Amino acid sequence: MTLMADYLIVGAGAMGMAFADVLVQESKASVIIIDRRDRPGGHWNTAYPFVRLHQPSAFYGVNSLPLGQNRIETVGLNKGLYELATSSEVCRYYQLVLAEQLLPSGRIQFLPNTEWTPDGSVVSTVTGRVVDINVKKIVDATYMKVQVPSTHPAEFPVAEGITMAPVNALSDLASPGRDHVIIGAGKTGMDACLWLLANGIDSKQIRWIMPRDSWLLNREFIQPFKLSERTATGFAHQMLAFANARNLEELFQTLESAGQLMRVDPARCPSMYRCATVTELELEQLRRIQQVIRKGRVTSVASGKISLEQGSIDIGKDSVLIDCTADGLANRPARPVFNGNQITLQSVRTCQQVFSAAFIAHIEVAKSDESDKNEICTPVPHPDTEIDYLRTSLGNAKNGAFWAADPDISRWLADSRLDGFSQAGIKPPPPDREQQALGLKALQNLQRLIEEAENSAAKPA
Ligand SMILES: Cc1cc2nc3c(=O)[nH]c(=O)nc-3n(C[C@H](O)[C@H](O)[C@H](O)COP(=O)(O)OP(=O)(O)OC[C@H]3O[C@@H](n4cnc5c(N)ncnc54)[C@H](O)[C@@H]3O)c2cc1C
Repeated sequence: MTLMADYLIVGAGAMGMAFADVLVQESKASVIIIDRRDRPGGHWNTAYPFVRLHQPSAFYGVNSLPLGQNRIETVGLNKGLYELATSSEVCRYYQLVLAEQLLPSGRIQFLPNTEWTPDGSVVSTVTGRVVDINVKKIVDATYMKVQVPSTHPAEFPVAEGITMAPVNALSDLASPGRDHVIIGAGKTGMDACLWLLANGIDSKQIRWIMPRDSWLLNREFIQPFKLSERTATGFAHQMLAFANARNLEELFQTLESAGQLMRVDPARCPSMYRCATVTELELEQLRRIQQVIRKGRVTSVASGKISLEQGSIDIGKDSVLIDCTADGLANRPARPVFNGNQITLQSVRTCQQVFSAAFIAHIEVAKSDESDKNEICTPVPHPDTEIDYLRTSLGNAKNGAFWAADPDISRWLADSRLDGFSQAGIKPPPPDREQQALGLKALQNLQRLIEEAENSAAKPA
């Protein structure tokens, strides 16, 4: 039997689900969704147990179904800010989306345990049988290649007999008196350190391997509804900084003085930016860890020793090594989102994958010309370095200005629960001359700062 539909969506992670949801809400299209896992929700199904969203639940998930109750948290390190869903809440949510939003439409078929192979065939991972499918368009919702610790083997050799595990095993391995070595200084590494401190491990028993220092986003400036005033002032302040900064250093200093960007050690110049988002309370906790090892990446682990790019550290028999090196935000090369019968989901607003997937679906439904669609959906690849902070800000600003000029897109954004700006009451730039001039100046200045930074990086030391 041949399964027929307008679209085949490969991947029922957050992006595939956000795309499917808009198709169901805004078109009459029929859709087959496949995933090699046995349920929707993607990487959240294998995430570490204490992971929570980095951003408020208010603008995560799919457009048609709210996630959480929009509560302001009253305890913990996110106190005073909008709730962040836990991984189990996110997984339950996606099952609800499937059962209550998508399947009842009668236009969605979900095939779990089904894989898209490199030769383009669709195969059951259980029986190995090829599923015969006939569709008009294929949506690749796997291109962002999210890695999580539990499914990502360490990329360095580890000798036998060493206690090393992904962050998922932290609660089994942590113990007072033990030496805990956290490998990796991205958001997962930060979460591991915070978990240890919150669970009573002495900060002296934590060593934190930090190959690069990072600029961090302050979650207070990413708040919707009642707390949106700070978000809106922060956004306006950021535009002024983009327009007026004379150099990179001044830009980061201005944003740090305003509290929008933060860093673990104010004496060090971060060379990393990967959208990691924390609160001031979390940062205060992270700063309690005094043993921060800045000797580059781990190259191997042997009995008694961890070798790093720029040196080594000793470990003992009781040392427990926690691997937090999985790349949840791979820097994938941008490719056209729309290409004939293929749609490749990517971020069109930095680090806002679910918003981006829903937005792309709206453009797929609302517009017809492929080159127009690609211009509207210019990818903003995930950031990695501090200069990428500028590149992604420029990408966002260019897309934002383009979208604001289109009344249909502006209306869609204003109604979209996944659009953090709309949730924070920030309107696209009004056609007011002063604002437009500032926006243009910000774009030009960001471009200049990027070119300067690229030229100085290209010069021999
Ligand atoms: C710890 C963590 C916290 C995060 N917090 C936030 C946050 O607060 N806000 C935010 O916006 N983003 C956050 N992100 C970013 C996050 O990556 C996205 O929000 C989103 O979950 C990514 O979804 P995805 O669909 O791109 O990828 P995935 O979750 O990886 O889904 C892809 C799916 O495709 C399936 N698949 C892959 N290849 C095939 C194949 N060949 N055949 C069939 N199926 C296949 C996989 O099984 C998987 O289910 C976070 C990421 C991590 C790792």
